[in-house]
Order: sequence, then C-alpha cells, then structure tokens
Amino acid sequence: MPTEPRHAVPTEYLPSAEWIASLPDPTPEAPLKVLMSGCMFGWMCGVNGDNYGGNWPTVQAFLQAPNVVVVPFCPEQIAMGTPREMPNCEGGNGFDVLDGRARFVTEESRTDYSAELIAASEQMLRAARDNGCQLAILTSISGACGTDAIYDGLRAHKTYQKGPGVAAAVLMRGGLRCLSQRDMRTLELLYAKVDSDHVPDPEARDAWELEWYQTYFAKR
Ligand code: SF4
Repeated sequence: MPTEPRHAVPTEYLPSAEWIASLPDPTPEAPLKVLMSGCMFGWMCGVNGDNYGGNWPTVQAFLQAPNVVVVPFCPEQIAMGTPREMPNCEGGNGFDVLDGRARFVTEESRTDYSAELIAASEQMLRAARDNGCQLAILTSISGACGTDAIYDGLRAHKTYQKGPGVAAAVLMRGGLRCLSQRDMRTLELLYAKVDSDHVPDPEARDAWELEWYQTYFAKR
C-alpha cells in the first residue's frame, strides 16, 4: 500500500547531512556513483531534442570531479522517443500515477503514456542498481524526473503540485536518495564531500525551503 500522503513534500528521500557524512570519502578508485537526468548530463533528450540549456554550476562541478561517476538516463526518451509531445502528470503526482490514481498524458493528442513511463522508470532504477549508484540528481519540475514539485496538468495553466514525477517516484520507492538541481543546500554538502577544499555555502537552501515554494503551496 502507498505510504506517501497525496501532497507531501518527499523530503525523507533527500540525502540528509548525516547520510552524506556517512558515505565513504570518494576517490578516483572508489568514486561516488550518481544517477543523473540525461538532459542535465547534456544529452539532447528534452521534448524538443535539446537539453533545456541547463548549466547549474554545482551540478557541472560533479561532472568534472575525478572521484565521481555519473550514470545518465532519460526515462521519457525510452518511453516516448525524442522529440515528443509535452507530457504531464494529471490527477496527481508520480506516486499517484504508480498507484493508478493519476495519468501521464501528452498535452496535444492526450495520449496516455503512464504504462510506458513506469516501465522506463523501472529500467532507470535497474540502471542505478546495476551501476551501484548511491543517489540520483534529477531535473526539477519534470513530470518524470521532478523530485519535490511538478506541473499540475497542462503547463499553460502554470500550476504546480507537490511531490515527484513518475521516474523519481519509482526511484524513491526503490530506496534511492533523490535531489534536484535546485536543492542547493544538499548539493553544496555533496560537493564538499567530493572536494575537500569546498566550503559549503551556509546560505544555500533546498528547493522546498525557498520562500516561493512555501508561499505557493501554502495557498493550495
Ligand atoms: S525525462 Fe528527465 S532526463 Fe528526460 S528530458 Fe525529461 S527531465 Fe530530462
């Protein structure tokens, strides 16, 4: 039975400071292994065949670190191909899609890709396990990869819902710690883990802690 409240922020899936501290110090011989959304890695796997122009400095630092191995994966590309129609979760978040209470549907033709995306997301979890990934850094807001908030139906409506997309939900239920490129507090701690010269920014905050997040969801 599902245990996640319908609109909970899944902060229990974020790598905590204590959890990060408990990881062995990564070396080139025994690196930190990170599952990453393909578009964030640089794959041209976005809906329009681009990578959304992502350039997140702390994430980029991971890509350069000699003691980090990144495993990129794009679940939508597996499920739908690239380019593709814009898909969103409708009727709930990724947990709800997994439990049959919501659907993963395209905006134009209204095609339901729920089953295909769940299968691709399970493939993503297997890739993480097969490669020994200790955590996942995923692209925020995506109906597949989003971790703490995603669009609530059509993007033109510009409304959001708490909770993860479908792939993130599969990874979380599979026991993988997940964060997005907007979780700056956690990224700072992780980067300090892989680079002992890096001092974490004490002002950095995770996405769910930001004022926009708190204010927006307080009204819904
Ligand atoms: S499904 Fe994930 S990896 Fe693929 S384009 Fe969307 S956010 Fe990026």
